[in-house]
Amino acid sequence: MRKISADTIFPVSTKAIKNGVVVLAENGEILEIGKRRDYEENSLEIYDGVLVPGFINTHCHLELSHMKGKVATGTSLIPFISSVVQFRDIPQEQILAAIEAADQAMYDAGIVAVGDISNKIDTVTQKEKSAIHYSTFVECFDFLQEDWAQNTYEQYKAVYDAHSDKGGNKKSFVPHAPYSVSKNLFKQINQANPDDCTVSLHNQETSDENLFFLEKKGVFLDFYKNFDISLAAFQATGTSSLKYALTQMNPNCKTLLVHNTMSTKEDINFAQQWNANCYWATCPNANLYIENRLPNYQHFLDTNAKVTLGTDSLTSNWQLSILEEMKTISKYQSYVSFEQLLQWATLNGAEALGYEQELGSLEVGKKPGLLLLNLAEDLKINSNTKVKRLI
Ligand SMILES: [Zn+2]
Repeated sequence: MRKISADTIFPVSTKAIKNGVVVLAENGEILEIGKRRDYEENSLEIYDGVLVPGFINTHCHLELSHMKGKVATGTSLIPFISSVVQFRDIPQEQILAAIEAADQAMYDAGIVAVGDISNKIDTVTQKEKSAIHYSTFVECFDFLQEDWAQNTYEQYKAVYDAHSDKGGNKKSFVPHAPYSVSKNLFKQINQANPDDCTVSLHNQETSDENLFFLEKKGVFLDFYKNFDISLAAFQATGTSSLKYALTQMNPNCKTLLVHNTMSTKEDINFAQQWNANCYWATCPNANLYIENRLPNYQHFLDTNAKVTLGTDSLTSNWQLSILEEMKTISKYQSYVSFEQLLQWATLNGAEALGYEQELGSLEVGKKPGLLLLNLAEDLKINSNTKVKRLI
């Protein structure tokens, strides 16, 4: 048993406790939460700083870890994607070594669960042996070609089957993005998933995504041309990309919308009326890496949206650390409070991935992990804040 105390503990599900104590069993289960005055001083491990639950990374592509530093920053989405697909014939041992190192780096950064996009089976072994819980999103896309949907689904079914859903891991089929998935493929995905799973979707990462659906114009036409894929059968829907995609998806599943850089309050309200279990994953460092812009977080606060944090992959980030994502938001949109950010980084993410029974908050009976952070005097995160994993 360990009795761990610090200046303040942030359980997340309840309000902060000054000089709080977290009592844990050997296996990390929380047995008790109390105050320092109720324990013998010499039975406690006492730290300077604050205690928080383990972080949840709701958006990653672990299989792209070998691409770290390979793609230029600030190019915008379409050149970014075009550049990523050019990297082929990387030795398999290099890919696997990068996956293992990235998993370890996330563990060291205090991450206890990851929502991980997989198009391949490269990460299967690492996820089985990792101490991190992985919710694998087997991501499907068929470039809007209705008659490719069946083959595409079968190809990804093999990826799904190879992934384990044992030992805290989960799996589901997910569509890549509104601009890359045909209606037939959306149907296949809906049929393949149970209602009680989480489905993710890359959403409104760039302004041209809406333009493509509203008017069939913009850089996505060039994107398709470059891949030599016909858009003859695609017609503008006259709606935002998000509205179009949600009408193809199952509103009974938890829905994790990722990036949302261009999402308006109207988009957010529409999605929340469609499904009360919408979660909004923001990956600020990846947004800066690719598009050099951030979502307007005020829109999400005004609409009571359930925001979560993600790192995206090492192809579009300098590291895989939820604390670094919190620092970026604190730096550029400092009206978002530390406690708000912490909820995004922990409990909201755990709910989004369906791990809220075990992770996401400091509560008796949970095994959420325990992290020590050093904050500034005013209890704010700043560039000097570091994370130490205690459990
Ligand atoms: Zn992504």
